[in-house]
Amino acid sequence: MAIVEEKFLRVEKSPTEVVKVRYSVIHGDDEGSRIFVIAGVHGHELTGIEVIRRLKPYLEKMNLHGRITLLPVANPVAFSTRQRGTIYDNKDLNRCFPGDKSGSFTDKLAYEIFNEIVVDNDYGIDLHTGPEGRVLLPHTRIRKCKGINQVKALSRVFGTLIAMSPQGVGSMLTSCASNRGIPTIGVELGEAYRIDEYFVNAGFFGVVNTLRYLGVLDGVANVLDRQFILNERHNVKAGHNGLFFPKAKLGQVVKKGDFLGELYNIESDTTERIYAERRGIVLARFSQSVVLPDMTIMSILTVDDCLLNNAVLKKGRYIINHYKNPESLWSSFEY
Ligand SMILES: [Zn+2]
Repeated sequence: MAIVEEKFLRVEKSPTEVVKVRYSVIHGDDEGSRIFVIAGVHGHELTGIEVIRRLKPYLEKMNLHGRITLLPVANPVAFSTRQRGTIYDNKDLNRCFPGDKSGSFTDKLAYEIFNEIVVDNDYGIDLHTGPEGRVLLPHTRIRKCKGINQVKALSRVFGTLIAMSPQGVGSMLTSCASNRGIPTIGVELGEAYRIDEYFVNAGFFGVVNTLRYLGVLDGVANVLDRQFILNERHNVKAGHNGLFFPKAKLGQVVKKGDFLGELYNIESDTTERIYAERRGIVLARFSQSVVLPDMTIMSILTVDDCLLNNAVLKKGRYIINHYKNPESLWSSFEY
């Protein structure tokens, strides 16, 4: 049986006040890979927090080979104020790595997370969501770094159909950890402030699948036969304010002229039908009903510049699935 150690980082807020950051270290029965799973780097992004809450009791019962560190709420100050960043110094934790122990609060927090947790691991997964009102198709983020092939392998194994490879900033956790030789992927699941079963299931599956691939859990990973790397985004904007009724679904493949949704103009009492201008896959949808002029109501990843994730996976650690819809991966998965 796994042994669970409950631990706290202690980060100085002022000479008399300390913020505690809880995390759990789950030790397997024997040696193996060491991996951290982190969420709540942005305090208002909840999907990953819930994924970790469900992972802990699941992993506690399993035969593990190696070690898993779960950090559910990396920035508890941002969480408790329902914000992306820290109110004390107005900093975004995901722009502060590897941190600075003599800097402001968020720099110290990054320093503690990086030096107490991250560097003592072999791999990492950083769970995020879209911002408020912008729900994102589950996808991974591969940032340019040392050992990028290992990051690409983790990305494939996580099980999303799409990966993006945006320009990273060196002070992001994924870039910083990967450049230190700890391959780490970013994952986007849903939107801020909400917990939705669909995205929690995608995240839970992805982490368990990764643990199987790395041999930390028994069993083999289930991967899709291909993962597409898409980066060119076409944003569909609202021409006026009004009520938005999206029709195209997240992940839906659309071609030029396909119906995306309707925008009702309150002033003229007319409804405008919105059509796709490019061929692509729906990456993001505005999830609220009132839109303002020039607001992005849908984002389409265009498929003209499509790359395949060509990372070679380790033999015997995975089986290929030919599902058209990645949801089939986690809905048919036996835990
Ligand atoms: Zn985030």
